Amino acid sequence: MGASDLDTAFFAAWIGEVARTIGAEKDRLTRLDAAIGDADHGANLDRGFTAITQALADKEPGTPGALLHLVGSTLIRKVGGASGPLYGTAFREAGKALGDATEVSVAELAGALEAGLAGIQNLGSAAEGDKTMVDALAPAVRALAQAVQDGSDPRQAADAAASAALAGAEATIPMQARKGRASYLGPRSVGHEDPGAASTALILTALRTVTAQ
Ligand code: ADP
Ligand code: MG
Repeated sequence: MGASDLDTAFFAAWIGEVARTIGAEKDRLTRLDAAIGDADHGANLDRGFTAITQALADKEPGTPGALLHLVGSTLIRKVGGASGPLYGTAFREAGKALGDATEVSVAELAGALEAGLAGIQNLGSAAEGDKTMVDALAPAVRALAQAVQDGSDPRQAADAAASAALAGAEATIPMQARKGRASYLGPRSVGHEDPGAASTALILTALRTVTAQ
């Protein structure tokens, strides 16, 4: 792969793989949310990504940026709760960061995910350690930036990002929630993986899957 090689078809494949894995794992996500929330996280995201799959089948956007923006807008429209606006904003900000380019580099993808993380934190004001999706996304963004700095190829970069997101999600288990519905449980939120961190890990794992293809 060259320096500027992630095209719209790549992003469509990524989002398609996200939709597939969210569908396959929605019961697990909902079980995680049943433990420390209201048991709707898997259903929420599956509804959103099913609508996205439909929208992309109707008309695939012409650029990676437009595609991610459509993903974000659909999530905001279709997914309720906390995660819809948060993920929706993240994908829209990531799309905006990519501008009108028809192909983007891994460095630009890293920058877009960083913009997505900033969008989540501006909206939800969660820091790392608060037991949210930020605990999976922030380390993934750092791993991606480090991989770019090290001159890694897209496959190595996505692998590092996915590993960091999975580790970050697992690290939420001993945390006490300080944001979102789970925070109402106080110390009883300890001992469970955060559902949003788990779904973020799925999104990054899907990136690894399509990059390895
Ligand atoms: P709701 O909590 O409204 O039912 P979901 O169940 O779809 O929404 O999503 C819950 C997830 O949203 C949590 O597991 C957490 O990762 C994430 N979340 C909640 N509040 C925040 C916040 N302020 N910042 C970042 N993420 C948050
Ligand atoms: Mg919920």
